Amino acid sequence: MISSIAGFPAEVVITEVGPRDGLQSEPVFVPTAQKIELVQALLDAGLRRFEVTSFVSPRAVPQMQDAAEVMAAFRDRDDAHLTALVPNARGADAAIDSGVDAMVLFASASESHNRKNVNRSLAESLEGFSQIARLAEGTGVALQGAIATAFGCPFEGVVPVGAVVDQARAYRDLGMGHITLGDTTGMATPALVIERVEALAKAVPDVQIALHFHNTRGVGLACAYAGLALGVRHYESSIGGLGGCPFVPRATGNVPTEDLVYLMQESGVQTGTDLNRLIHAAQLAERIIGRELPGQVMKAGPRLQIAAMDSVRTAHG
Ligand code: ZN
Repeated sequence: MISSIAGFPAEVVITEVGPRDGLQSEPVFVPTAQKIELVQALLDAGLRRFEVTSFVSPRAVPQMQDAAEVMAAFRDRDDAHLTALVPNARGADAAIDSGVDAMVLFASASESHNRKNVNRSLAESLEGFSQIARLAEGTGVALQGAIATAFGCPFEGVVPVGAVVDQARAYRDLGMGHITLGDTTGMATPALVIERVEALAKAVPDVQIALHFHNTRGVGLACAYAGLALGVRHYESSIGGLGGCPFVPRATGNVPTEDLVYLMQESGVQTGTDLNRLIHAAQLAERIIGRELPGQVMKAGPRLQIAAMDSVRTAHG
C-alpha cells in the first residue's frame, strides 16, 4: 500500500478526452470501428468518463463526422458517463438525440482566441449557450462548461483571473455544475493553477472544477500535482498523450492518461483504473494513429516492473 500525500484527495475521477480532443486534430480519418475499439479498451482499463466525440459540422471537422455512430456503440453502457463537445444548437439537437449524458459547451476566456476558435465574441457564445440550455431542458442531458485559454492566450498573453471567474459565474448561472479549466495552448503553470482554482473555489463553491492540461511546455503533470495539492478531484487527459496536429509545430497533446494515473497511483490517490491495461490502450492508440505517441509510462512500464538481468548488457571497466 502506497502511503498518500497529506492534503491529496483519496480518489479522483479522470475524464478521457483522447477520442475527442486527441483525435480531432488527426488529419487522416480514423475509421469508426477503430475509435470504438479504443474507447472499449479504455473502458476495459477502468475509465468511466469520456469526452467521446464532438457534434461539430462534418465539413469543419471531418474526423468527427461519425459522432452519432460512436455514441451509439456506448449509449447503453449505464456505467459510463459520456459527454460530447457541442458548438451550437444544431449540434445540441444531434447530441441529445445520440444519448449523451452531458453536453460540453466551450468558450475561451480571451476574446481573440474565442474569435479565432468559434468566430464569435464571448457574449455571443454565452447567448448561444442559453439557447442550448433551453433545448436541454427536460431532456435529462446535463450541461458542462469548458473555459478554454483559462491560463493564458497565444494572442493576448495574460488572461486575467477575473475573466475566468466571470466566465465561471456565467456558466454556473446557465446551470452548469461542472466546469473545466482548459489549457488549450499549454500555458498553465502550477502557480497559475493555484491562483485560479482558489479564486473559483471562492466565487463558485457549488461547482465541480476539472483541470485539463496540455503538455506543451513539459509542466502538465506538475500542474496536475498542484491541482491534487488543492484537493481538486476531476482531471482530463488523453491516452498516450494523443492530440496536437503533426503539421502544426508546437501543438502538443494532453497530459497522457497513463502518465497521470501513474503519478496518482504512486501518490496514493485512487483512480479506479488498471495501469497495465491503460498502457495496452495507449499502445493500441499508437497503432491506430500510426506514429509514436509522447506518453512515457507506456514505454517505460510501471515503476516496479522487473527487468531480466540479461535484458541489458553489462558494462566493462
Ligand atoms: Zn484540450
